[in-house]
Amino acid sequence: MKTRILVLGAGFGGLELSTSLSEALGDSIDMTLIDKSDGFVFGFSKLDMLFGRQSEVMIRNPYSTFAKPGVRLLRETITAIDAEAKRVTTDKGTHEADILVIALGADYDVSSTPGITLGVNEFYSVPGAAHLAKVLPGFQGGDVVVGVCGAPYKCPPAPAECALMMHDYVKARGLESVTRITLVNPLPSPVPPSPDTSKAILAAFEERGITFIPNTRVTAVEGKTVALDNGTNLPCDLFLGVPKNRASDVVVAAGLTENGWVPVDPYTLQTKIPGVYAVGDLANTGVPKAGVYAEGAARTVATNIIAMLRNQPQTARNPGAGSCYIEFGANRIARVDVDFLSGPKPFGTFHGASEALRVDKEHFGASRRSRWFGL
Ligand SMILES: Cc1cc2nc3c(=O)[nH]c(=O)nc-3n(C[C@H](O)[C@H](O)[C@H](O)COP(=O)(O)OP(=O)(O)OC[C@H]3O[C@@H](n4cnc5c(N)ncnc54)[C@H](O)[C@@H]3O)c2cc1C
Repeated sequence: MKTRILVLGAGFGGLELSTSLSEALGDSIDMTLIDKSDGFVFGFSKLDMLFGRQSEVMIRNPYSTFAKPGVRLLRETITAIDAEAKRVTTDKGTHEADILVIALGADYDVSSTPGITLGVNEFYSVPGAAHLAKVLPGFQGGDVVVGVCGAPYKCPPAPAECALMMHDYVKARGLESVTRITLVNPLPSPVPPSPDTSKAILAAFEERGITFIPNTRVTAVEGKTVALDNGTNLPCDLFLGVPKNRASDVVVAAGLTENGWVPVDPYTLQTKIPGVYAVGDLANTGVPKAGVYAEGAARTVATNIIAMLRNQPQTARNPGAGSCYIEFGANRIARVDVDFLSGPKPFGTFHGASEALRVDKEHFGASRRSRWFGL
């Protein structure tokens, strides 16, 4: 009998986990990877789409090109998870497993922020970024608010990248002198674990006249006004929103969450239920919600599953370390390497913005496309 492994969600975490297991174990396992979507989109591609660098077709990596020995990728929507029984119900049937890995990412909760509408005034979903990409050419100057509605949210530097890219955009269109850009963020600084990164971003904001409002979140958007949790309002002609993030309904309904997210051992990603792991944005590890960290967690789980199936000790530990590329505008990219789990507190190293780092970022995306999709 082959070991049955069920992986829920073919995002950063699910794709890396399935690829690692397939590489090591191939047809000796019976793995099913389930996703409701028809393809994978890198988070950072949404910024490229928003500012017209890439189209929706260009950023989508179709699952039809994912072919790995031992893995079946099914396009189904998961409607219920019985973690104890390792049984999952989808819109097309039921799947049972010996090992269950939940990697369903984070959803967006717009109901808690009046005036935020998915697919309309946020750039965190593909439809939202696609819609705003069509709105931008009609923008003729005024007040732009890049506003975060709550923490934790995916990819902490992304709102700052959006503000810097927006500045490039209005400059290219000759609208710089008639535009004011404000970033509202619940975090105390753009990238708290790396003061050097935050300092460089704040210097870039100052050079460009971008206003940063830290420790504050957006509570509502009404007409041309954005309300903040400090009781003040901002004028706003264009709102580029980051919705509140939350675990998806199916994960909450499965009783897997505490304080909104799935509790796990941050080093092994094990949930309280033996043989059930949670990887990526939905897991509460103390590590940011970002693809690189989901990927590192997935590799850890894969290494330990491989060891277990070979009757070897499971010694892999989630590194909680990764590199994030930060769009700085003017075609330059910076990088911050942050290690969250190996020391007494998170520690970041900043690599200043350069054109050379754009090549690194392109390699980051291309290497994953090649590894996961053979593209
Ligand atoms: C604007 C933006 C910029 C970003 N930039 C970066 C960056 O530069 N670097 C970085 O590392 N990260 C970045 N991120 C964050 C990154 O995209 C996420 O943290 C990462 O994708 C999380 O991986 P995951 O595997 O947990 O979930 P995801 O990659 O979100 O995958 C979850 C999968 O589960 C599927 N799913 C969900 N519910 C169901 C269901 N009920 N049934 C079936 N399938 C389901 C989804 O379709 C999805 O494919 C960015 C995010 C955004 C929004």
